[in-house]
Amino acid sequence: MEGAAPDWTDRYSRQVLFRGIGAEGQKKLQAARVAIVGCGATGSALAGLLARAGVGTLRIIDRDYVEPSNLQRQSLFDEEDAEESLPKAIAAVRKIEDLNSSIQVEGKVEDLVPANIEALLEGSKLILDGTDNFETRYLINDYAVKRSVPWVYSAAVGSYGVTLNILPGQTACLSCIFPDSPRGMVETCETSGILNSAVNLVASIAATETLKLVVGGTQAPALRRTLLSFDLWTNDRAEIAAAKPRPGCRACGERDFIHLAGEGRPHITLCGRNSVQIHERQRPIDFAELDRRLHAHGRVRHNDYVLKFWRDPYEMTLFPDGRAIIKGTTDIAVARSLYARYVGS
Ligand SMILES: [Zn+2]
Repeated sequence: MEGAAPDWTDRYSRQVLFRGIGAEGQKKLQAARVAIVGCGATGSALAGLLARAGVGTLRIIDRDYVEPSNLQRQSLFDEEDAEESLPKAIAAVRKIEDLNSSIQVEGKVEDLVPANIEALLEGSKLILDGTDNFETRYLINDYAVKRSVPWVYSAAVGSYGVTLNILPGQTACLSCIFPDSPRGMVETCETSGILNSAVNLVASIAATETLKLVVGGTQAPALRRTLLSFDLWTNDRAEIAAAKPRPGCRACGERDFIHLAGEGRPHITLCGRNSVQIHERQRPIDFAELDRRLHAHGRVRHNDYVLKFWRDPYEMTLFPDGRAIIKGTTDIAVARSLYARYVGS
């Protein structure tokens, strides 16, 4: 076998053989530009599937870093990523480049907010939801409806998964179905746990809808026009019609894009799991210098992407743009004062 180079022209042959894709469909996949917002469990699975399927340009946006508790379900990451606390967007790009070097993959270590959504989603023809919170989903929905970009909502918690295709101008949008953040969905992976199989099922469905959208466009008859939910543990399954927008919907009816305008958005947000995120922009941080300075106050470690500082009972993770995630408290005032004391006010 030595010297025999593998035949890469065969790479997608099994997918091209599938009637729904074919050679033409494969070309469309190669030309597609897809953004994945959030690269935790669902985002990892989506990115892995679509990268292997040959989606030509993937943009992965994530604000977080890899931790040991992620590895049970976040399929793009490994133990080394967790040891290095690598930002998920960076670790995901590395993994995808290893598994398919013929596509473009871009990682953005950022929190998607009204101020940067235009820049981060510009050029993407399709947006996939890999987030874990309704605040970001409503923001994506406002952007997608306003710009008429299709997007796929996906969520998983416990053994439960739910997904919806949003085709602006055709189907119901997220705000049609959930005018307000649904109360019953406030449980999170931190409080209810999560099965990796529920994640993979919801990601498989959403990735398949993505293939249909890219290959057949928003009029593709095979596209699902329902909110589909299932519980893998109880075997419950439900579908709610979503083929038509709800009259009077704030977003797609009245075109009142309050989330895009950033209304009611706090400067500091809680991001679950006993932690506070501090958004600080225009504060580029010199990790080497800060590492030296913090040495006297606690354990500190950094690489090119994150600086971690431990001061009992807190753990602070800083990104080069000044954003921080402070673990060990949900008190915004405490987090603020720690940030001011050790990073700057
Ligand atoms: Zn709507």
